[in-house]
Parts: sequence; C-alpha cells; structure tokens
Amino acid sequence: MDKSCIKCGRCLAVCPVYKASGYERISPRGKLNLIDFYQKHLLFPSFIFQETISACILCKRCEEKCILHTPISKIIHQTREKLWPLQKKQYYRSWVVNKFLASYQKNLGLWLRLYTLCKHIFPLPFDLASSPFLSSRRFYPSKKAKANIAIFSGCVTNFLYPNLGDKLIKLLSKLGYNIFIPPQQTCCGLMAYTLGDKETALDLAKKNVEAFGHLSIDFIITPCASCYHQLKTFLPYQEAKISEKVIELSQFLQEKPLSFLPLNKKITWHDPCHLRYHHNIWQGPRILLKKAGYEFEESSPEGMCCGQGGSFALNFPELAKQIFRRRKETIEKTGAELVITSCMGCLIQLKAGLGKQQVKHILELFA
Ligand code: SF4
Ligand code: SF4
Repeated sequence: MDKSCIKCGRCLAVCPVYKASGYERISPRGKLNLIDFYQKHLLFPSFIFQETISACILCKRCEEKCILHTPISKIIHQTREKLWPLQKKQYYRSWVVNKFLASYQKNLGLWLRLYTLCKHIFPLPFDLASSPFLSSRRFYPSKKAKANIAIFSGCVTNFLYPNLGDKLIKLLSKLGYNIFIPPQQTCCGLMAYTLGDKETALDLAKKNVEAFGHLSIDFIITPCASCYHQLKTFLPYQEAKISEKVIELSQFLQEKPLSFLPLNKKITWHDPCHLRYHHNIWQGPRILLKKAGYEFEESSPEGMCCGQGGSFALNFPELAKQIFRRRKETIEKTGAELVITSCMGCLIQLKAGLGKQQVKHILELFA
C-alpha cells in the first residue's frame, strides 16, 4: 500500500464524501491508510472501520486526480467483500433492500403484500407502480426490423417507472428494431456487488445470463446508467459475452433520426457517476440535448455526484443530503428549470430533492 499512496491529498479536493464531512478518516487517503493497517493485521475491523469503508460512493472521481493512478475504488470494494459478513449486520437497511432485490422475482406477491402493510409505518419517498414493467411486456416486432434489441429494464424501471420502459419500447420501435424483453431477467446485481455481497451478485448475474444468453440479439439497451455499468463490467456478464452487446443509450442514439418533444424551459444535464467517471461517457447526452435545440446550460462541467450512490444514501442519509445540497446549488445557479439524467438512482435522488416535475429521464424527451 505504501506505493499506492504518497499522501499528497490531491484526491481530497474532489471526493464528495470528504467534502461533505470534512473527516480525513473517510477521505480516499484516509481510507487507503486504514486499509493498509487492516491488511497488515494491525487494525481490528471495528464498527468505525466498517463505517469508514462503507462511506464511499465508489464514484471513482478520486482516481482521475490520483498522481499514482491508484485504483482506490477497487481497493475499497475488495475490502468491503472481506467485511461483508460483518457489514450485513451493521447496515440492515441496505441488507433488507439487497435481500429484496435478490429475491423479488421469486417472492413478488409476498414483497408487495409486505409493502402494502408497511407503507404507512415506513413511508417510502416513492410509489410503487401498480403493475411491474416485466409483468406483461415480451416481444415487439418491427416491419423494418433493422436489428434485434433486448431491453434490460433494471429494478427501478420495473417497479417505479414502467412508463420509462414503455418510452424506450416506443423509441426503439419507431427507429425500426425488433424488441425482446426476457421476463426472467432480474436485478443486475450492482447493489449487492457494491455492498460486498459477491455471492448474491453472482447469483443474480447467473439468472440474467440465462435470460439473455440464448437470445439471438444484436444489442442490449437499458434505461439505467448504473445497470449499464454493471452489465458492462461484471465478470460473469463479460464471460457470457453479454457485456459486448450492451450499449449505452446516448451512444446508441447519436446518429439516429430522432424527434424531440418541444420544451420551453431551460435545461441542464446531470452526469451519473457511473457514466462520467467509470466509462468517460459525458459528451453523448450533451450532444443529444443540443441537437434537440433546447436551451441548455452546463451545471457541472466536470460532473458532480448527487449523493445517491446506491446503498450510500440509505446508510449515510445525512452525508447524502449534504452532497445533494452542493449539487442543488450548482443547478440553481444556472436557472435551469429542468434537470435531465439517465440513471435511476440519480433520478430518485434528484426528484426527492428538487421536486418530481423538475427532473426527467432523457427518455421522456423523445416524441
Ligand atoms: S470513490 Fe468517490 S466517494 Fe469513494 S473515495 Fe473516491 S471520490 Fe470519494
Ligand atoms: S491522490 Fe493518490 S497518492 Fe495522493 S493522497 Fe490520494 S490516493 Fe494518495
């Protein structure tokens, strides 16, 4: 580890968690330092240590500043995997969500009954859709049939925003593609994987490989930037050659003939960390929004986390709020009346903080 960090502190300037908290302990440098002690068996995995390792969005922003190109988020993630047997007891909220995502397909009726019973006691910041996206959509043939595309819906589209899945179907149908929606697909496993629960992530990936592996398709498209990241980078998807078919929405749409809905509002774009820092995808959505002719103003030229970060906002709500507050200020400075994004986690966070009407998924802009 000594060679992985010279403690220069460059990473501190961009880490959203450090900037929100001001604590060296949970800065990238502080984490690497403690992980070094832990790996050398000089540190017991106490609650404070576990909290330190959990307090990271895994956004990767720190890595672009690191003078040694240290894979900071990978080191933090690997430590989480080691700590998972202890972590799941400490962070029960994310554990419950993780369990739900891992098993909802099998026990959907039970989970929905539980939700109905508990929603008045533990109100959620969102409403579940009356009918999940995957419950009725299957195959949409096209007369033009340019290619075969499968949709990976992801959990948020499935349960909260089936309308976004329908918008993707409509868009791809208009462009002339056959659309397949395998009903056996399930959660991409990102939540489980980032928590350190690799076993569950592997189990979910196996189900998705079974659902998509046999299809004769050219591309897989998902409305969620975070699902895109997991499908593109998780080893079982790569080995099954699923990853090579996965294409990011804005990149897929770049050269397509598109018609946009009219908008008389100034808009801005919110970069999902998974697109911006993991895949260096940031120009594509901006090109689309400018092509649409909308009044566009940049609110985060280098990207900026919204604080959601999968399980991060569940486990560290106060820090998540502070990170969001900073993002909100940058949006407000532009005078933008509408924020556009393409990650379901960001969508939930931004809608909760800015208001439902002030945030849209990019799919909602197409006529
Ligand atoms: S991955 Fe993001 S949240 Fe984690 S230490 Fe790096 S900059 Fe901070
Ligand atoms: S930028 Fe890299 S070398 Fe410098 S303190 Fe951060 S992790 Fe260490």
